[in-house]
Amino acid sequence: MKPSMDAETKQYLTETLLVECWHEWGYGIVCKKCKEMWSESNSGYTRTFDTRDDMMDLYEAIKKAGKWRNFVNWAFNDLEEPDGGDSYYSTASIAWLFCLSGEGYEDRCQMVEEFWRATESSADSAGRREG
Ligand SMILES: [Zn+2]
Repeated sequence: MKPSMDAETKQYLTETLLVECWHEWGYGIVCKKCKEMWSESNSGYTRTFDTRDDMMDLYEAIKKAGKWRNFVNWAFNDLEEPDGGDSYYSTASIAWLFCLSGEGYEDRCQMVEEFWRATESSADSAGRREG
């Protein structure tokens, strides 16, 4: 198991993939960046990326970005015999991808981060070639 995701990585996923504000409350009651008012529901709000909600939001964001097929292929290509599964797109692979055991949310979120960084850097290099 990899070490826990650091704050910089959580901020990266929040801002670049989810396209949400990584709030900075400072000493005030208004976010210094997006000007949202502090409230009970968003107090100290930063995503932890170790929950089902955060993982599913990342998956949805990948889908919205049009990268879902790439992501699934990338994820399963990297997968070695998940839970005794014997092929890509096996029920075991899909259960693994969605943490149907109830565990592994943080690992899947870290996997999304690796995918997203690779995707972003390849988009950058493609842009440079065109430019
Ligand atoms: Zn904010």
